[in-house]
Amino acid sequence: MSNYYNFDERLNELANEAEKLSADAFLRISDIEEYNQQRVLASFTKHRLAYSHFEGTTGYGYGDRGREVLDEIWADVFGAEDALVRHNFVNGTHAILTALFAVLRPGERMVSLTGAVYDTLTQAIEGKNNGSLCDFGVEFIKCELLYGNSIDWDSATPLLKTAKVAYLQRSRGYSDRGVLTIDDIKVAIEKIREINPDAIVVVDNCYGEFTEKREPCAVGADLVIGSLIKNPGGGIADTGGYIAGKAKYIEQAAYRLTTPGIGKEVGCTLDQTKKMVRGLFEAPRVTAAALKTSVFTVAIMKLMGFVTSPDINSKRSDIITAVNFESEARAISFCKGIQMGSPVDSHLSPEPWDMPGYDDKVIMSAGAFTMGASIELSADAPMREPYTVFVQGGLNYYSAKAGVLIAISEMIKSGSLKIGE
Ligand SMILES: *Cc1c(COP(=O)(O)O)cnc(C)c1O
Repeated sequence: MSNYYNFDERLNELANEAEKLSADAFLRISDIEEYNQQRVLASFTKHRLAYSHFEGTTGYGYGDRGREVLDEIWADVFGAEDALVRHNFVNGTHAILTALFAVLRPGERMVSLTGAVYDTLTQAIEGKNNGSLCDFGVEFIKCELLYGNSIDWDSATPLLKTAKVAYLQRSRGYSDRGVLTIDDIKVAIEKIREINPDAIVVVDNCYGEFTEKREPCAVGADLVIGSLIKNPGGGIADTGGYIAGKAKYIEQAAYRLTTPGIGKEVGCTLDQTKKMVRGLFEAPRVTAAALKTSVFTVAIMKLMGFVTSPDINSKRSDIITAVNFESEARAISFCKGIQMGSPVDSHLSPEPWDMPGYDDKVIMSAGAFTMGASIELSADAPMREPYTVFVQGGLNYYSAKAGVLIAISEMIKSGSLKIGE
């Protein structure tokens, strides 16, 4: 191993050992990457993506062909009838709420089969007197996962019978539950259809894109939603989100994003189209780099005796790695180290703070080209037991691997970790 950074010799040995343990997982990741890269390339060809589509528009954005072609390509890649890919979704939360407001009406019910929704969605769905979904009279019920990974069908079945929306979150998010793989989602959707054929199946796809060969629409989801600041932006999209799925629901989502009657017909793209298209093009490769970084992180942390999830050879369906550091000092020094090992803002030092939308203080390191991008190497830790640090991203494997080793070195330097004894 090249040792530009002069890492401790014992750390180099651990890194070599970790890569050996990762070999099988790396091969599986490369296989998925190649398949997905071909899927994206074929879709670009099929829809005759042209240089002129990158032109962009201003003002109302009437007749923006680039915007239309991007939606067509996206729908195709995601196995959907139609898609709404826009830079003016401010994040994934905004895109998810746009989709939910599009299909739910006062008095109707939404059932989450994967328990609590992602932290930032809680206020948006359940908040009081703030214009949330519940504030508008939608009934929201969550069925917690059993043992953290299987759907509680006994509780869910009677609730689903009269539900308008059945909601699934693919990724574990920042919780200790397991992921839902595409196979899990397929089985869940078949079961939902048996119970209530009219329920609209909505999948929060954040962090899941391109980690497998198929996306949830390909196994029957009606709407899938995600953020371009994560996997499908490929580290290139400056901002944005997407909704993909059945054409009739995409039209309603477009009505909600703009206005009824106008929908997808307007919305200038400024200079964002090329970055969104280019981001999609890079997304299979960048997601594979993030997955390899995740596997390497799991392997080296396990070698040092930490509890991680998932495991080295677990079936993956998101890019998140959780490491239990069991100590606030260790969690903080690891996150500071990830910041030091980042390509941008490496000289800054993150501190735990009260982030909007989160209950506990959170420390977030993200020395990223796109602000806060978690497809780039980043580590976040809510300041609560067992001081789990969530590590994700990595635009390319070798820089992210170096970042992880720098973070471990930081823990050693700060005295919160000893190795090789
Ligand atoms: C990140 C994330 C969201 C929200 O996306 P933002 O872009 O942070 O608003 C929703 N669900 C899951 C599972 C996520 O990981």
